[in-house]
Amino acid sequence: MDFNLDEETRSALEALRKWGREVVRPVGLEADRLSRPIPVDDPYFERCLLRGDGRTRWQPHADARSTRSRSVLTQLLLAEEFAYWDRGVMIANPGPGLPEASVIALGTEEQKERFLGPFVEPDRPRWACFAMTEPGAGSDAAAIQTRATKDGDGWILNGAKCFIGSASRSDWILVQATLDPSKGRAAQRAFFVEQGTEGLGPFKIEKKMGLKAYESSSFSLENVRVPASHLLGGETRRERSAGFKAAMSTFNAGRPVIAANAVGIGRAALDEAIRFAREQDLLGDPRVRDRIEAMTRKIRMARLVCLRAGQLADERRPNIVEASMSKALAAQVAQEAASQALELLGSTGGRGDHLIEKLYRDAKAMDIVEGTGQIQRMIIARQLVSLPR
Ligand SMILES: Cc1cc2nc3c(=O)[nH]c(=O)nc-3n(C[C@H](O)[C@H](O)[C@H](O)COP(=O)(O)OP(=O)(O)OC[C@H]3O[C@@H](n4cnc5c(N)ncnc54)[C@H](O)[C@@H]3O)c2cc1C
Repeated sequence: MDFNLDEETRSALEALRKWGREVVRPVGLEADRLSRPIPVDDPYFERCLLRGDGRTRWQPHADARSTRSRSVLTQLLLAEEFAYWDRGVMIANPGPGLPEASVIALGTEEQKERFLGPFVEPDRPRWACFAMTEPGAGSDAAAIQTRATKDGDGWILNGAKCFIGSASRSDWILVQATLDPSKGRAAQRAFFVEQGTEGLGPFKIEKKMGLKAYESSSFSLENVRVPASHLLGGETRRERSAGFKAAMSTFNAGRPVIAANAVGIGRAALDEAIRFAREQDLLGDPRVRDRIEAMTRKIRMARLVCLRAGQLADERRPNIVEASMSKALAAQVAQEAASQALELLGSTGGRGDHLIEKLYRDAKAMDIVEGTGQIQRMIIARQLVSLPR
């Protein structure tokens, strides 16, 4: 594997490092200490826009396949670096977020224009989000109960969603719903629901143990009416299965990013451990050195698997095993690194106002979001023995 970085990636990483140190880390710590998401009107978001963040990769009037996208490998390196400074702030950043990939891959030209268009040169911080999880359907995404019923030339949506990132501040929400809950995945479709649509909400911001800088909300959909044009991919036969495929393509693209985030959190924990050991003159102790060696080795191992998943994606080769392996491994490594660092810091780390205890809480979520570690391990095992899905 050749991971030589080009000049553009190097300077993007350097700029992100500076932004992370000076802005992201303090903003994330403040949100954590105040135990609330960064407010919508926080000047931080305007600064993001000035930096060029919050924009879509989609390019209007370009060939359908062309986006102003970086390589997956570069995206992973940037995701690692951002999470090193604060993973919660990274997710809080404005932009079309999780559903963007699905809309680019499966949306009609009108849908891209309408829903991604405002993110090309955003006039203000704008968000979008993807709503899959329900109170009774997390890992088993095929079990969702939010119902879509045809009504004349439109659709009526009824159901409830939970733990949806940035939902209350999103311009639109891509809602996963089913035409018939007894038919599992085949009956699922994704619908654009614009903020302010009658019957959408109220939004309740969830309490979280970590990653507090971004909002996770639950909300209900009560007789929410959307036009036919809001069905992702339209209603043509070729695109019938768009709904579930959209969800899954989002997740497959997302797993190595979560892995990269976890590697970033692990690195931050490792650096805290080394800083503390140096300050306390503990680096001469072989037990401390042994701990630092183990943390470093595992973090680097997780990074390699993650970059391998990214490299395969860049080469358009199947990466399902590597994507799941990277997430299962990196989330575990990050939790272990944060736990080891916390132990090393002793009472200093356990005080409740030290970065390390925040990293410890943040790391746990990396094992839960976008498919738990357990689910990743099941996917890997199934793929390895070629069981049907
Ligand atoms: C911080 C945070 C942000 C999130 N953001 C979003 C978001 O933006 N959009 C969104 O749609 N969702 C979001 N989620 C939801 C997340 O995707 C779900 O929490 C996740 O899919 C797990 O579902 P669950 O919580 O219902 O747990 P469950 O599915 O109930 O799982 C509970 C436990 O059982 C295990 N388990 C489940 N099924 C099996 C099985 N078949 N075999 C063996 N073990 C099994 C799981 O591994 C887990 O350990 C977010 C969650 C968190 C914590």
